[in-house]
Amino acid sequence: MTFLPVRVRPLSDEAALCVNDAGRFFAGSHGFVDRLLDEALTPMDRQFLAREGHALEADDPLGLAAHLHGVAERLSRAGPLDYLILVPTLRCNLSCSYCQVSRAGLAAPGFDWSEETLAAVLACLDALSTDRIKIEFQGGEPTLRPDLLRAVIARCERFAERQFVVCTNLQQIDDEILALFDRPDLFISTSLDGDATTHGRNRTGGPVRTDRFLANLRTVVDRYGPGKVSALPTIDATAPPDIDTLIEAYAAHGLDSIFLRPINFQGFARKRHKDAREQDLAWRAYYERFVRAIIARNWRDRGRVLEETYLSIALRRIFQPGRDRHVDLRNPNPMGLDYIVVDHDGMVYPTDEARMLARSGIIDLSIGDVRRGWDSEARDQLNAHATNQFDPACQRCAYQPYCGRDLVDDIARYGRIDMPRLETEFCRRHLHLFDFVFALIYSDDPAVIYSLSRWLRLPGTPASLGARLQ
Ligand code: SF4
Repeated sequence: MTFLPVRVRPLSDEAALCVNDAGRFFAGSHGFVDRLLDEALTPMDRQFLAREGHALEADDPLGLAAHLHGVAERLSRAGPLDYLILVPTLRCNLSCSYCQVSRAGLAAPGFDWSEETLAAVLACLDALSTDRIKIEFQGGEPTLRPDLLRAVIARCERFAERQFVVCTNLQQIDDEILALFDRPDLFISTSLDGDATTHGRNRTGGPVRTDRFLANLRTVVDRYGPGKVSALPTIDATAPPDIDTLIEAYAAHGLDSIFLRPINFQGFARKRHKDAREQDLAWRAYYERFVRAIIARNWRDRGRVLEETYLSIALRRIFQPGRDRHVDLRNPNPMGLDYIVVDHDGMVYPTDEARMLARSGIIDLSIGDVRRGWDSEARDQLNAHATNQFDPACQRCAYQPYCGRDLVDDIARYGRIDMPRLETEFCRRHLHLFDFVFALIYSDDPAVIYSLSRWLRLPGTPASLGARLQ
């Protein structure tokens, strides 16, 4: 019998987490780890390891194939281009202190797509080989140009599967915008930072504007139901809002998914929120309290399941590889292949963060433009480093099968991509996140297992979610 190598990470005072290359894991007691190191495994140990997919018999080609399939499943495969983030205008009717794209003023000329850029975007859509398309309209405030949104949407009629997301501040909605929103294949994404005071703090225009936003949010939720509307809070980690107030602000609008993000270190935020470069232990503690508050709420009111979006993504990366498509957390994380960003001037970026970096004047990470294409040397250079596979720290890390790579984040924070991995905010954030997720997985609290089971979309609630070896 051959034992597959495991990477080990402390889990608790009694046990260590053991993970193999396929992402299969168990909690091994310290006694087991000693027996493993001393090559003194008992027959019970061997039985357990074989049953849990950590050992292979010499004459078991099917078992070997299953293991190799499990390893391969952990690697993302970028398909054809079918996801476009489009920025028809950089102008905006608000000016938020944490704006990541340094938006242009409402009346500023030269920040909308030109006729030529629109024509090139439409030609790009015509040339796609896929039969499904997802388009996210970003800005600026994209609803300032409903004509451009309509032109793009009309050109997508040929795709069998279509999904449009309008990322809007919901400051201004009129009949023309509502006619667009009425499409069943269109979804609305907005920002909601908490109660009215918190929401208004980082926005211009004071309480009147915030009241209007909240009324518009109520209008679209009432008109379409919460399934069509999603919202994100952006949190000032130095002064985070009261957790229960934030959760209830979402619950009151029927919004069940809360993506708890600190201010992104981009755009205006680089100047006005300098602390956003690194998150500290206080933020991580806030994040844990927030998730535990959601778990407690889900247990109290079992008719409703709320979730923290990124934690659910991490959880599904552990248990359900390949099930979801998340470009935020994947490995390898190739750029400019299955999704691109087309800016207001037609420049093509690999990610929205790359667009923000260029806009902040930090570094130009454009990989081409929508007229001439983006199969460029710049894209190839980025993609030569788009994996965590060969990083010495990641190779030793128990979380490598679940984790990802974000070159643009490293460039944004440190101006380089060769920082020792363990010294990056990306790594610290994910070490903390996966430590926390596994602490939840091995919790004996039925309330915790109940929430995890819902977030995994399991039909029932198992007694436990992780195997243990004494
Ligand atoms: S980035 Fe950090 S957490 Fe992620 S696999 Fe690498 S070492 Fe582990």
